[in-house]
Amino acid sequence: MSTLLDSIQPASGGRTILDPATGEPVGRVAEPGVAELDAAVAAAHAAQPGWAALGDARRVELLNAAADAIEANAEELAVILSREQGKPLNGPNARFEVGGAVAWLRATAAVPVEPEVIVNDDATYAEVHHKPLGVVGAIGPWNWPMMISVWQLAPSLRMGNTVVMKPSEFTPLSVLALAQVINTALPADVLIVVPGGREVGEALTAHPGVDKLMFTGSTATGKAIIRSAADSVKRVTMELGGNDAGIVLDDADPAAIAEGLFWGAFINTGQTCAALKRLYVPDSLYDAVCAELTKVAQAMPMGVGLSEDNVLGPLQNKKQYDIVASLVQAAKDGGGRVLVGGDPDESAPGYFYPTTLVADLPNDNPLVAQEQFGPALPIIRYSTLDEAIEMANGLDVGLGASVWTPSPDRAREVALRLEAGTVWINEHGAIDPRVPFGGSKQSGFGVEFSKAGLLECAQPVSIKGAAGSFTAS
Ligand code: NAD
Repeated sequence: MSTLLDSIQPASGGRTILDPATGEPVGRVAEPGVAELDAAVAAAHAAQPGWAALGDARRVELLNAAADAIEANAEELAVILSREQGKPLNGPNARFEVGGAVAWLRATAAVPVEPEVIVNDDATYAEVHHKPLGVVGAIGPWNWPMMISVWQLAPSLRMGNTVVMKPSEFTPLSVLALAQVINTALPADVLIVVPGGREVGEALTAHPGVDKLMFTGSTATGKAIIRSAADSVKRVTMELGGNDAGIVLDDADPAAIAEGLFWGAFINTGQTCAALKRLYVPDSLYDAVCAELTKVAQAMPMGVGLSEDNVLGPLQNKKQYDIVASLVQAAKDGGGRVLVGGDPDESAPGYFYPTTLVADLPNDNPLVAQEQFGPALPIIRYSTLDEAIEMANGLDVGLGASVWTPSPDRAREVALRLEAGTVWINEHGAIDPRVPFGGSKQSGFGVEFSKAGLLECAQPVSIKGAAGSFTAS
């Protein structure tokens, strides 16, 4: 019986993708070049008017049908994702991500996006419509390949655009498999995936036939893409790197918040854009928070994704493993006190780095100041709240942040002083398709999710005249 994985592999050849937990082959991916990308953009361009002409109500039906198709293939998708990305099936990982893809498709389909009457008085009538932009080029990372693909494709398709998507070279099979399933519900050429590396990505960003780019990845790549998009004035949404701070206030209960702090930092083994990456704790609670977090960290099993027991997995690739290992080394060299972890078994297969907590670091240590994107959390001591806020705001990125306190008034007051696109209260990274999400500073611009996210995939057209000069729609 042919499997989903068989159906997305080339008949022969291609590049072999290895499981980051075991080093064993997962499958092969075709390696198209710029010529295939050109053909894909041309096909998506040709399909776009027909897709737009279906109308919003029909597109909503088809997005929900795509969500049904994912649900029907959920376990097969989760296994491909687990083997290719490394994340375990259980915990907030592979099955959770496939469920997230379904939830985001349905939520994106459910947002009302009617034309808006902006002025309607004795003299003037004006309304704003939202028209498709054309072809959206989507480029994604390797950490949440299925869910982030849906964040890009669902609003683009809903607003009447077609999509050419280039997945990360580290996780192409996950995106190809997801698109294969989604495409059973969609007309031909409305969603096309072109796997490839940087060369294909660069060609997509510079392509004259692409009208908008949705990019999720590192800040360095985002800067290159903004430059590349400038020549044709493409619209761009930039979801870039972060180094999210969490601030525990002095009235928090360490035992009550420890598990929330842990998953805020270690979801997807720390390989999450809006994970908690620096934790600021007041003197009065410092030892208690360190002790409670250590207890939680020691109880969370890490291992091969297909084993049902595990909730933490390997780093997805060697480059990321090396970044985490070198930042923990810098923390040790800088006087950090390792509470747990920090001692990888270099002889074991896979890119496993143990769950690591490091206390007593100065704020300028590289493990604090740089994005680790892995399972190593620095815990920094503070004396005054002003000092904690200054340290939290001291970097040039600002994706998410969090405040931990039972006091609602103090929570809001501190939240409004933090420089981030989202500030969570007593949770971290808990995204919601109804709530806009995006970066501040060098974490990017533009938002995803909610009506605001949908409108970023459309061209606003204002129609205005004297009162009574045209008919209200
Ligand atoms: P990356 O920037 O290395 O790669 C992302 C994608 O860009 C890949 O598909 C890659 O092939 C492509 N690419 C690389 N160079 C390119 C170029 N010059 N032109 C066009 N495309 C190019 O990022 P990554 O390592 O895959 O992902 C990790 C980073 O992504 C982290 O910094 C993380 O914080 C960030 N991230 C942000 C969000 C968010 O929503 N803000 C979400 C997930 C990840």
